[in-house]
Amino acid sequence: MVVVRVAVIGGGPTGLVTGMGLARRGHAVVAVDRDPGPPDDGSPWARRGVMQFHHAHAFRPQVGAVLRAEAPAAWDAWMAQGAEPVEMPLGDGRTVPGGVRSRRETFERAVRAAALEQPGLEVRLGHVDGVTTRAGRAQGVRVDGSDLEADLVIDASGRSGRVNRHLRAPGIGGECGIAYVDRVYRLRPGVDTPPMTNAIAWQGNYVGYLVIVFLHERGIFSALIIRSTGDRELVALRHTRAFEAAAAAIPGLRAWTDPDVSAAVTDVLPGGPLLNVYRGQRGPSGALALPGLVFVGDSVCTTTPNFGRGLTTSLTQVSELLRLVDVHGSDVEAIGGELDTWDEAGMRPWVEDHITMDHALARRWAGDDIDLSARLPSDVIMMAAAQDPSIGAAVGPYLSMQALPSSLGAVEDRARAVYRTGWRPQPDPGPTRDALADVVAAAVPA
Ligand SMILES: Cc1cc2nc3c(=O)[nH]c(=O)nc-3n(C[C@H](O)[C@H](O)[C@H](O)COP(=O)(O)OP(=O)(O)OC[C@H]3O[C@@H](n4cnc5c(N)ncnc54)[C@H](O)[C@@H]3O)c2cc1C
Repeated sequence: MVVVRVAVIGGGPTGLVTGMGLARRGHAVVAVDRDPGPPDDGSPWARRGVMQFHHAHAFRPQVGAVLRAEAPAAWDAWMAQGAEPVEMPLGDGRTVPGGVRSRRETFERAVRAAALEQPGLEVRLGHVDGVTTRAGRAQGVRVDGSDLEADLVIDASGRSGRVNRHLRAPGIGGECGIAYVDRVYRLRPGVDTPPMTNAIAWQGNYVGYLVIVFLHERGIFSALIIRSTGDRELVALRHTRAFEAAAAAIPGLRAWTDPDVSAAVTDVLPGGPLLNVYRGQRGPSGALALPGLVFVGDSVCTTTPNFGRGLTTSLTQVSELLRLVDVHGSDVEAIGGELDTWDEAGMRPWVEDHITMDHALARRWAGDDIDLSARLPSDVIMMAAAQDPSIGAAVGPYLSMQALPSSLGAVEDRARAVYRTGWRPQPDPGPTRDALADVVAAAVPA
């Protein structure tokens, strides 16, 4: 076997799972991150530069599957820290993995702890200033002014990574038009878990906004209120009094946040900008951005978090990269080219799916009807299954990300027929967006 010297830019989940997978194969890996990791004294991990670290995360079964296959020590550490794998009933007595209940911090602490113990992987503190090149190929990275040589450089610097952006074609997408605030609570001892929509979450759809509760480990949960970015009146939800008044006014959310049921464990957390962006492995000319440099995780693909897809697209891509290194060894051009083909087929469609859904959702929140003359967004197709159960057979594989968004094309005409009857999905019982804005304004007078 050829031992490949690998430099990984970024020690987030993507960088460290990639690093562990490569080191377990015998390659020599250094993962560089500017974040020093959690403080030894048990005080909170600030995790600057990764704004989503403190926000709600749902973990799909694919995340656990990749960890068990490529970084089993990280899976073991995650379970030891209290993460709860859940099974979903199939209706015939059998069950399938339904995901893992956990906070992002619990997950990332476990991944990092396992990475620090992985022989062959060094997790180094530092800022990567750039990639060094020789004869038009990557030959390493520059870390705080010093060179680190490598045969393969992996950019896992996340959605905000800037270091190699100038090398790449612009990609597709941008801000998604949706914003949210969330707050973390803990169920009181002995209280039954309130109703859930699936194994991981409860969701309520209202006129002009959306509410999601993600259940984490040990009764900890996050409550999110999701609005249009342009909805300036609901920005005030970031104030504790406004959030609490809104939570009390929305019956499905009150079932979780009633003081008899749970207690808040954080302040209200305003979310940063949410993106639907895809950038592949290529530069503006269409050639690889730089032979010997590949991009993974959020540096390639980031999607609106309300479907909780980011870690699944990221870690599924990590599996593919590891397979390509197994096949091609140090043939870095073959690795980059084939990874780009995989990204186009396996990541880009999820970003396009979210762009279509989010634009259409923003229009519906603004009062527009469903546009039956255009391609129907995936969420609109799924909702039609309430009227035509034959649509449901296509929904499961799409929702669980076992089938690409294009798979819903097979039932799109049936969904269109449902809407042509005049039927529309009914909102859950609760205030409309205008009524919610009044609740917010009363709680936080201008
Ligand atoms: C608000 C929000 C909620 C989300 N919710 C979910 C969810 O419910 N489920 C889900 O599956 N996904 C979710 N995601 C997506 C998920 O968080 C990402 O897919 C995941 O963080 C990607 O990991 P990563 O390692 O690729 O990037 P990151 O986690 O961003 O890590 C990148 C790392 O690179 C480091 N870095 C960057 N530049 C440099 C440099 N120059 N030098 C050194 N280090 C550098 C950073 O410090 C960081 O540690 C959410 C995303 C957002 C924004």
